[in-house]
Amino acid sequence: MRKPKLRELGEAIKAIVKGPYTDKFPFKPANIAEEYKGFPEYQEDGCVRCGGCVQICPVKTIKMIDDPETGKRIMFRDYSNCIQCGQCAEYCLTGKGIVMTNEWDKTTLDPTSIHEQVEDELVFCESCGAVITSKMHMDFIIERLGELAYSNPTLVMHQNYENGLAEKDSGKNHEGFWREDYMRMLCPNCRRNLVFKEEWGG
Ligand code: SF4
Ligand code: SF4
Repeated sequence: MRKPKLRELGEAIKAIVKGPYTDKFPFKPANIAEEYKGFPEYQEDGCVRCGGCVQICPVKTIKMIDDPETGKRIMFRDYSNCIQCGQCAEYCLTGKGIVMTNEWDKTTLDPTSIHEQVEDELVFCESCGAVITSKMHMDFIIERLGELAYSNPTLVMHQNYENGLAEKDSGKNHEGFWREDYMRMLCPNCRRNLVFKEEWGG
C-alpha cells in the first residue's frame, strides 16, 4: 500500500478535528447562497392570470385551465419538470407575477404534491360565450391604458359592471349583430363581425 503524503495526511487530520466541508443534507438544511436561482413561485397579488408564462415556458410545465362550468381560470405549475430557467419570471406581463426563489429541493415520494396554482374569475363574451380572459387581466389592461381604455367598448362595459354602473347582460336574445350590441363585452371575433356588419352591412 502507498503511504499517504504529508499534505494528504494533514488534510485528513484536519477533517477529523474540524468535521467535513460538505453539508449534512438531507439530515440538515443545505447552505444555499441567496442568489442561487432555484424554483419560481407565483405571487398572488402580482400575477394577473394572463397566461403569458404558459406560452414562454420551454418545457410546458405551466398549464392554464379555463373552466366555463366554474367560471374560473387556473394557472397550474407542475414542479416535477421545471428546469429553473427563469424565463417565466423574466417575461412575466406585470414583471411581478413570479419570483425566482433559491429553493431547489422539492424531493418527495408524492409527485402530485409538487405543484402550485393561482386562480381568478373568467370574463366571457356576451355574444358567443367564449372566454375573453381573466378578470384581473382585464383590470390590469384598463389600468395600463388609463383614459385610452374608453376607446374600447368591452373594457368600458367591464369597468361599468365592476363599478355597478351597468347590470351584467344575460346574453343576446337575437341572431347576428344589432347596433345595440356595440356596447357589450365581446370577444375579438364577435367585435370584428360586429364592426364588419356596421361598416359594410355584412
Ligand atoms: S401575470 Fe405573469 S405570472 Fe401571471 S399569468 Fe401573466 S405572465 Fe404568468
Ligand atoms: S422556470 Fe422555466 S421551466 Fe420552470 S416554470 Fe418557469 S419557464 Fe418553465
